[in-house]
Amino acid sequence: MNEPVLSLSDLTTWPRPGTHLAVLGHPIKHSISPPMHNAALAELAKADPRFADWKYHRFEVHPDELPGALERLLAAGFLGINLTVPHKILAVDLIARIGPAARDVGAVNTLVRDNDTWLGHNTDGHGLARSLLDELGAALAGADVLLLGAGGAARGAAVECLQRGVRSLRIVNRTAATRDALLAQLAPLAGGIPLSGLAPTDLPGNLPTGLLVINATSAGLKPTDAPPIDLASLPRPRAVFDMIYNPAETKLLAQARALDIPAANGLGMLVHQGARSLQHWIEAATGRADAPIPTDVMRAAAEASLAAH
Ligand code: NDP
Repeated sequence: MNEPVLSLSDLTTWPRPGTHLAVLGHPIKHSISPPMHNAALAELAKADPRFADWKYHRFEVHPDELPGALERLLAAGFLGINLTVPHKILAVDLIARIGPAARDVGAVNTLVRDNDTWLGHNTDGHGLARSLLDELGAALAGADVLLLGAGGAARGAAVECLQRGVRSLRIVNRTAATRDALLAQLAPLAGGIPLSGLAPTDLPGNLPTGLLVINATSAGLKPTDAPPIDLASLPRPRAVFDMIYNPAETKLLAQARALDIPAANGLGMLVHQGARSLQHWIEAATGRADAPIPTDVMRAAAEASLAAH
């Protein structure tokens, strides 16, 4: 499956028969969401013919075009949209109705048609929590979390950590200003959960053992990147999760493997955020909130797509 990259001018051929979904991004050509979702839809159609005419597209949309794109996709009858870089934060001010969890995160990655408006959600936190549990046996509730990064992905992860009742949350980021800005945004959501900020070069000596380390920095995307933290400088962590999935093993994950610390990359998070989006769309179309999603098929399609790149 190699879905063409569409642009807004392709909407002149809509409405088309069938139920249509799309991911919008800039750039979009490297997104593995279309093969992942279309594999899921093909699998669902084997058991339920209603899914046979569902199709997930990808659109290249410049940030300046986003307001018009959201209106035109609604008018064209699309059921749902995923948003990726750089639209997740931009869309918050364009969507009239946003679920409370997504509003706390300050970003939406899933839009669901509700008559003549879009309803916004954020499924990244669900994807993270589910992947931690499935792949590392690590529940966020009660965990001592060391979260690396203070950008958009870190903010989503931090909100999920607080909503799920971690025991403590430490944010590690090299730039003090972005770290402090994130801490200020999180403070009203923390309740009684201890929340603090640390510099990666100045970690205190009294960190607890058994930390759940989550990398939400982009350090590791390039092979020349140094790891965002030296795991050997920490009391033995219980597990290490890296949101990066391409490359499949960052230097951070390689060090975890060398130290025999359970570790996982971000592919499971991508799969489970996508599965949760699909559940939202299926619920909107059929009323069924707990449709089983073939996440194993989605993962295999995502891996095949990454290998093909
Ligand atoms: P942002 O650009 O918003 O934030 C980047 C963060 O990484 C900042 O905290 C920045 O620190 C830090 N950083 C960047 N380079 C380095 C470096 N060389 N060393 C240490 N820290 C560094 O990006 P996002 O938050 O949107 O994305 C972060 C990562 O998460 C990306 O790799 C992305 O691919 C991944 N991701 C994965 C998802 C999944 O489903 N698996 C979903 C969403 C994101 P500073 O403030 O100091 O600049």
